Amino acid sequence: MTLPFDEALNGLRQNLALRRRRQVAPVVAPAALTPQDEALRGTTYLIDGQPRLSFGSNDYLGLSQHPALLAAAHAAIDRYGVGATASPLVCGHSPEHEQLEAALAAHVGLPRALYFYAGYAANVGLVPALVGRGDAVFSDALNHACLIDGIRLSRAELHVVPHADLAALDAALAASTARRKLVVTDAVFSMDGNVADVPALMALCERHDAWLLIDDAHGYGVLGPQGEGTLAHFGLTGVDGVAPAWQGRMDRLIYMATLGKAAGVSGAFVAGHPDMVEWVMQKARTYMFATAAPAVIAASLRAAIDVIRQEPQRRRHLHALRTRLREGLAAAQIPWHLMPSETAIQPLVIGSNAEALAVMAQLDEQGVWVPAIRPPTVPEGTARLRISLSAAHTLAQVDELVAALARCPR
Ligand SMILES: *Cc1c(COP(=O)(O)O)cnc(C)c1O
Repeated sequence: MTLPFDEALNGLRQNLALRRRRQVAPVVAPAALTPQDEALRGTTYLIDGQPRLSFGSNDYLGLSQHPALLAAAHAAIDRYGVGATASPLVCGHSPEHEQLEAALAAHVGLPRALYFYAGYAANVGLVPALVGRGDAVFSDALNHACLIDGIRLSRAELHVVPHADLAALDAALAASTARRKLVVTDAVFSMDGNVADVPALMALCERHDAWLLIDDAHGYGVLGPQGEGTLAHFGLTGVDGVAPAWQGRMDRLIYMATLGKAAGVSGAFVAGHPDMVEWVMQKARTYMFATAAPAVIAASLRAAIDVIRQEPQRRRHLHALRTRLREGLAAAQIPWHLMPSETAIQPLVIGSNAEALAVMAQLDEQGVWVPAIRPPTVPEGTARLRISLSAAHTLAQVDELVAALARCPR
């Protein structure tokens, strides 16, 4: 019997689309770091055994190795053990999970939150819980793959709207006769770093009586004065919850964010009106039919929320790093286009897969790790280096990246 995989894999290889995993580990174990090598924490890794300064992670605030999270994790393991043993609806939901959900809701200023073990699972379960056959979903062309998978599973009619095109969205909503309309968008686009105009989207949804689902995977922790995310960034929520101007208007909003990026751990949550959240808990198949995340994860995340709120200097430093990178690259006159982005994601568009991989290899030789992102993750012909900044980086480390890019042959 001949299997078709060999030929299919060769096809990927010829398109330079074959992915290869690296084995990644901290150069120095977090528990063994001395004050002198603090700059290594969350920035410098052994990648296939070679030490590299990394700009590849989504650890935007540098929390994945933060001492407070590590201490919370140790304590929770001692208290709960390691496994959650069952789905949350059977016996996998602990006091840690309960307190985490309350803390998440309070942080983002919405009435209730539901914790999922992964962002992928949250979106794939959430969309089919909200809409089905006879309904319509309006999805930004650059939305994350797991939103698209959730939409497909829902069997609702799909309208792909050109990226960030409010006029096209307006027209598509006006033309639809669907029973229920759901607009779906990344709040911060994962491969471009730009922020969706959430107030304008809310206004459109009000006009057409649609619901709005925003996926804040890259905004939560990073945007907003206390890291509350994109809603606070635009003033829809404030320190006391929903802002006065938005009182009574938030029922159509479904907020979702992930916790494996800026929050430094793993999982995700859905937040909004208590009845909506209750319905999602009753109906999302990825919630019902999957083992809960261990309590140690929930406990680590509660520590993460405290750090996110109490250490605004991490967001200020991230801002300074972004300015340093953008000014440094402008001065270095590199031939590639740095996309406009006010977040931690700073994409450098290279073009072809071959050239993106070549620049990545040249940086690698200089001890700097920046992953090349290729189609289908980004549109054909826009392969890029997705430079991802973290509050753990120092200004000197950003200078090192700029110098390494300036030395790449053009
Ligand atoms: C990473 C990401 C997800 C998936 O979250 P995981 O917790 O990694 O499964 C969902 N949506 C967006 C926009 C993302 O970037």
